[in-house]
Amino acid sequence: MIERVTAGVALATVIAIAARAARALTVDGAIAAGLVGASSIAAGWSWGALLLAFFLSSSVLSRIGIDIKRRRTSALLEKGGERDAVQVLANGGVFAAAALASVVHPWEGWLAIGGGALAAATADTWSTEIGTLAGGEPRLLTTWRAVPTGTSGGVTGVGSLAMVLGSAFLTLVMAAAVWPRHVVAGAFVGGVLGSLADSLAGATVQARRRCTSCDALTERAIHSCGASTVHAGGASWMTNDAVNVLCGVAGAAAALVVSRALA
Ligand SMILES: [Zn+2]
Repeated sequence: MIERVTAGVALATVIAIAARAARALTVDGAIAAGLVGASSIAAGWSWGALLLAFFLSSSVLSRIGIDIKRRRTSALLEKGGERDAVQVLANGGVFAAAALASVVHPWEGWLAIGGGALAAATADTWSTEIGTLAGGEPRLLTTWRAVPTGTSGGVTGVGSLAMVLGSAFLTLVMAAAVWPRHVVAGAFVGGVLGSLADSLAGATVQARRRCTSCDALTERAIHSCGASTVHAGGASWMTNDAVNVLCGVAGAAAALVVSRALA
C-alpha cells in the first residue's frame, strides 16, 4: 500500500503536469487533479485506471472541433477550455471521497458510489462535447422548448446517445478491472440517471442570467458583448459547478441502490 501510494502520487503528479502543459487544466485545477488522482490510486490501481479513462476521454473529446464548439456556445457559457480546481472537484470530488473512504473502511458500496459518480461525470461530459459538436436543435428536458446550443438543460438525440455511450465506456473499464457485476450494472444506470438529473437541474433550478445590453440569456457574469448581466431565474447559487456536484451525487445514489438491488 505504501509503495502504491508513493507510485500513485508520482504518477498523478506527472499526469497533472502534462495536463497543465496541454492547457487542459489551470494551475489550481492541476493541483486538484493531482490530489484526486493520488486519492484514487491509494484506493487501488483500478480506481486510478477509471479516473484516467474519464480524464483522457474528456480531454480528447473537448479538444475535437474546439473552434466550432466555442463559436456555438461562447455567448452562453461561464467558463472556457481550461478546467479549474472547482470544476475538477465538482466532477471528481465524490469519486475521490469514495476512494479515500474505501481505504479507511473497506466496503463494496464505495465501489458503487465512486463508480456511479464518475460514470455520471463521464456521461455528462461526453453528451455535452459530442452533442455540441454534432449540432442540431437542443430542447429543454422539461418543456421541450427549443433553446440555443450550449443552453444548460438542453438535450439532443446525438447528445443523449453520447450520454449512454459515456456511461457504458466508463463501466466497461470497471468490468475489465473485474469489479463485481452488480456494481458495474449499478454504476452504468447511475451514470445515465445522474447525467439526466444534471440536464433536469440545468433546465429548472440552475442560475440563469440576462445581458443588460442585448437581453440575451447566458450563464456568464459578463456577456460576450461586453455588458454586465443580471440574475434572471433559477437559484443564484446553483452554478454549473453546483449542478455537476448534484450530477455526481445523484449518479452515486442511483448506482448504490441499483447495485444493492442486484446483489
Ligand atoms: Zn450582451
